[in-house]
Amino acid sequence: MPRVSFASPTTIDEAAAALAGASGLAKVLSGGTDLLVQLRSGRIKPDLIVDMKRIPGMIGIREEGGKFVIGAATPGVMLSDHKALEHAYPGIVEGVDLIGSQQIQGRASLAGNLCNASPAADSVPAIIAARATCVIAGPNGSRREVPAESICTGPGRTSLQKGEFLIEFHLPKPKPRQCDAYLRFIPRTEMDIAVVGCGINVTLDGGGTCTDARVVLGAVAPTTVIVEEAAQALIGHKLDADTLARLDAAAQKACKPISDKRGTIEYRTKIAGVLARRTAAIAFERAAAR
Ligand SMILES: Cc1cc2nc3c(=O)[nH]c(=O)nc-3n(C[C@H](O)[C@H](O)[C@H](O)COP(=O)(O)OP(=O)(O)OC[C@H]3O[C@@H](n4cnc5c(N)ncnc54)[C@H](O)[C@@H]3O)c2cc1C
Repeated sequence: MPRVSFASPTTIDEAAAALAGASGLAKVLSGGTDLLVQLRSGRIKPDLIVDMKRIPGMIGIREEGGKFVIGAATPGVMLSDHKALEHAYPGIVEGVDLIGSQQIQGRASLAGNLCNASPAADSVPAIIAARATCVIAGPNGSRREVPAESICTGPGRTSLQKGEFLIEFHLPKPKPRQCDAYLRFIPRTEMDIAVVGCGINVTLDGGGTCTDARVVLGAVAPTTVIVEEAAQALIGHKLDADTLARLDAAAQKACKPISDKRGTIEYRTKIAGVLARRTAAIAFERAAAR
């Protein structure tokens, strides 16, 4: 039976030192809902596991200087229960609420969802659409803040260097008439992996014309995709039939999916356009109501 060392540090610097000093594979543990499954199946064989949950600040949500600061290991249920966050970012909470079951959401974190680096991760499109940033801690007290979209570099791969891990997400408070939405399509009614996921964040003027937008697709490429052309289809326009048609076409054009048991390339591509239309309609309606 292979030996795995386990560390449960109480400071960020202790955690970074443990990760940086590991001789073999070191893995960060937040909720463990991906990591433990991978351990059991033998997909990963770490020499060291470093638990984040005893480090103050890693679990919790605070409002500070015009933004929400979310501890990287905060479980999904805490995000769903946070009234101000849910009001500001219903789309992010929609993504979190789709992760597994209630039991899974009692552990599963944003950092784990992002750093597991699955292109189908449900919280990631809306987090990126919100222009969230991640604060990364590293060895020798280093800290850097990067856009959430810079973390995943491919399926199961991240841009994090040895000894680095996420400590916080920063979400700017939305502007007036700014809101988001997230939809995914799965072949079953629950507990499945997205065939396509779509997160859209829009800002409207008083007349309902879009002044800013981010359209992000999941599960249609090796990483989550920011579809700039789809955002441009919305900006400067109201949500009429022409706008929706341009959005649909831009979303489909951005897809580079694989065919698997959940859907073919053609099916995923078509669904991406349909989901983009539906998600935009919800985001516009929410933003207009603010
Ligand atoms: C039954 C079941 C259903 C699921 N359904 C869904 C679903 O519908 N949608 C979906 O998106 N996911 C789903 N998942 C996957 C999983 O629950 C999510 O990806 C979850 O958000 C992972 O978070 P975690 O805190 O448990 O991560 P962990 O398992 O602790 O970690 C996951 C990965 O991220 C790394 N990591 C964790 N925290 C950090 C950090 N702070 N800094 C750097 N790296 C870190 C770990 O080293 C590991 O590689 C499901 C899982 C199960 C078991």
